[in-house]
Amino acid sequence: VASADRTDRPVLLARPRREHTGTPVVRVEDVDKSFGDNTVLSDVDLDVHEGEVVVVIGPSGSGKTTLLRTLNHLESVDSGRVEINGALMGYKLDDSGKPHDLSDAEVSRQRREVGMVFQRFNLFPHRTSVENVLLAPTALRLRGAVDRAGALDLLERVGLREHADKYPHQLSGGQQQRVAIARAIAMNPKVLLFDEPTSALDPELVGEVLGTIADLADEGRTMVVVTHEMRLARDVADWVVFMEDGRVAAQGPPDEVLGTGATPRVARFLQQVD
Ligand code: ADP
Repeated sequence: VASADRTDRPVLLARPRREHTGTPVVRVEDVDKSFGDNTVLSDVDLDVHEGEVVVVIGPSGSGKTTLLRTLNHLESVDSGRVEINGALMGYKLDDSGKPHDLSDAEVSRQRREVGMVFQRFNLFPHRTSVENVLLAPTALRLRGAVDRAGALDLLERVGLREHADKYPHQLSGGQQQRVAIARAIAMNPKVLLFDEPTSALDPELVGEVLGTIADLADEGRTMVVVTHEMRLARDVADWVVFMEDGRVAAQGPPDEVLGTGATPRVARFLQQVD
């Protein structure tokens, strides 16, 4: 996935933003978000370019999940902008310059561009694996979405072809999560979001899901992954974002943010999670 401009750069230079041409797939600009008195996101900026894997890490409560959810209309923002593929995502400005929500139809159209994988799989319990993969496109009545043969191909890609006709309760947590990943890519989204995709899994099942995510990275998919799994940050990320208290406290290539150049705060965090 690493592009030439990334590998050619000297690693130790402080670089608050990458240099890329073209419209980023995801652009977050100056986003603020509070729940009541609790400021959860402050001045957050983030660009994610085509084919890039951005891994978001940081202590619990730092705003990682909220940030991810703003990319899919699961949370609104109080100010700032979120764009997917250059299209404003959810937050049109009204005449007074304040953001307001889009219509339901606009929201569902925009959501098709974004695939989401949740911590707790969220499969339909009374549907088989292949039906689960087919259901998302059916619900959205997508033209060009996968048919049954396409859904079986997707299950093959996550190593579950032989489990196509099983129900979620007949699968391990790792297998269920891989079905959820197949379902997310069935919509052929511009960007895939992962919200702590391995944290509900028994430790021995984490590796298979990390492997599937690494395969998607190798395919050049654009992804934003919130995780406590430092293997993802170190081995799969092109860019690591460290959040603290609702702010992006450090960001850069993994060898810079997590390596010898780590800030004292990041180093302390790494000692706790590793
Ligand atoms: P992280 O993913 O880094 O653990 P979150 O984004 O889940 O952080 O949460 C950040 C803060 O926002 C926390 O203080 C949390 O309690 C608060 N929060 C998250 N979602 C809601 C909500 N729907 N209503 C009120 N507070 C929330």
